[in-house]
Amino acid sequence: MGATRQHAVVIGAGVGGLTAAIRLAGRGYRVTVVEQLDRPGGKMGEWRAAGFRFDTGPSVVTMRPVIERLFSEAGRHLEDYLDLAPLHPITRYHWRDGTVLDALQDEEAMCAEIARINPREVDGYRRFMRYVAELHRVVSRPFLYSRQPGWRDLLRLPLADALKIDALRTMHQAIRAHFRDPRLIQLFSRFATYNGSSPYRSPATLNVIAHVEMAQGAWYPRGGVYQIALALERLARELGVEVRYGSRVTKIETMNGKVSGVVLEDASRLSATVVVANADVSDVYRRLLDDGPAAQRGQRQAGQLEPSCSGFVMLLGVTRQTPRLAHHNIFFSDDYPAEFSAIFDQRIPPPNPTLYLCITGKTDPAHAPAGCENWFVLVNAPYLSPAYEWERNAETYAAHLKEVMRGWGLDAGDPAVERIYTPLQLQAMYGGNAGAIYGFSSNTRTAAFRRPSNRARDVRGLYFASGSAHPGGGVPLVMLSGMAASACVEEDMQAGRI
Ligand SMILES: Cc1cc2nc3c(=O)[nH]c(=O)nc-3n(C[C@H](O)[C@H](O)[C@H](O)COP(=O)(O)OP(=O)(O)OC[C@H]3O[C@@H](n4cnc5c(N)ncnc54)[C@H](O)[C@@H]3O)c2cc1C
Repeated sequence: MGATRQHAVVIGAGVGGLTAAIRLAGRGYRVTVVEQLDRPGGKMGEWRAAGFRFDTGPSVVTMRPVIERLFSEAGRHLEDYLDLAPLHPITRYHWRDGTVLDALQDEEAMCAEIARINPREVDGYRRFMRYVAELHRVVSRPFLYSRQPGWRDLLRLPLADALKIDALRTMHQAIRAHFRDPRLIQLFSRFATYNGSSPYRSPATLNVIAHVEMAQGAWYPRGGVYQIALALERLARELGVEVRYGSRVTKIETMNGKVSGVVLEDASRLSATVVVANADVSDVYRRLLDDGPAAQRGQRQAGQLEPSCSGFVMLLGVTRQTPRLAHHNIFFSDDYPAEFSAIFDQRIPPPNPTLYLCITGKTDPAHAPAGCENWFVLVNAPYLSPAYEWERNAETYAAHLKEVMRGWGLDAGDPAVERIYTPLQLQAMYGGNAGAIYGFSSNTRTAAFRRPSNRARDVRGLYFASGSAHPGGGVPLVMLSGMAASACVEEDMQAGRI
């Protein structure tokens, strides 16, 4: 880089934006992050009230090596910023017939758990874990840890490996080839929701998520998942990144097909050689770029992709304790196909939803007053469409969910504090695409290839680092998106394209 440092503006201080900012600052760029909210983290947020503390977004953290890599590349030790505790059990699963199963990272311990509910499935589990480990070996490089794959990249793989990508079956079909017990089929199918997709539609390639969680483990940052946002912000500032909160970008300026800067809400302007959008790709093309051919092409491309599912969240400050619950709990609906059909076909919140209940207070007792618990309840919900009006129905759906919870013996009583987030509110808070919380769904075989890449096709100097770009949604993937975007910047800088 020349004597004057190139200026990079990052739009958004979400996990993807902060990751890109850290990488670029580490490579000598002058970086300004502009965030419309008054805090870092984007969807990774926190709410405190009356002695309760809640994470408002992500609660399950996997792929620890990705977080480690970001810090070590910046010359830091992750342990100096975050205390990541492994979770045992990873998740406690509950079914209507009274079965309770703890998902455990240790394979022998997990086999013992499976043997307890159905000894005939232990061999299937061992085979499944070998299958997903192999899947991870084959797909992690082309699909996760490098720039977006093209069909040609797949042709370069040895034939035996290419076949292992397993994109012709659905996730659910591949799981059924390993298990007969409907409970275990449901358990492993659930991983499709980690990027907001349906197990009945996504390619079996997504079974790689089972490897990431079951073999590599799930982590909890002590203090709450929000600590990750704070740690990223701290590292970014230490590297000289300027972070401006309460500041919205209203326009990305271009000159001769190349970015020249951004305009802020107060009409001030920041000039830049590089703009990294952590804002949703659809938003960038719809609202931030001038309505020319590039914006129209980008909108068309994004418009052809199905958004991921959204979520309906209830935060409940419960004034009692339920010892049978773990840190992460799943209460499965008894008709999983109907649940995904409601979400992706009818686009209505499922009447009979699977409940996810996270209680960080189980690991961090300080997150609720003595004798109380901080309940984060999440159900998968459809992305926004005319099929469901949240303005009118939110309270009714919340009441319905509490009824469903009571059916499981989960009585929140009269909570000391309570808050809900509907897909409509999530959309209003963070911007994005129809309230989708993981960018685009992986509900088709080609989704991984059609997802927006980290480099804008028609605007030089514009890059994407978010769940709506390669490699997709979820905290670790969004970090990889930030890393991939910064790698594209460097490639282009070296090639003299920007
Ligand atoms: C309820 C919920 C539960 C989830 N659970 C999990 C989980 O358990 N595990 C997991 O891995 N993932 C989970 N996720 C998904 C995960 O949170 C996201 O994939 C990830 O945080 C997205 O990060 P991002 O950087 O792409 O975008 P965001 O977090 O959306 O950040 C984008 C930022 O850009 C800002 N911005 C947008 N437009 C502008 C503008 N014009 N000017 C200035 N700023 C702008 C926004 O305010 C925002 O801060 C969950 C999400 C939600 C909402």
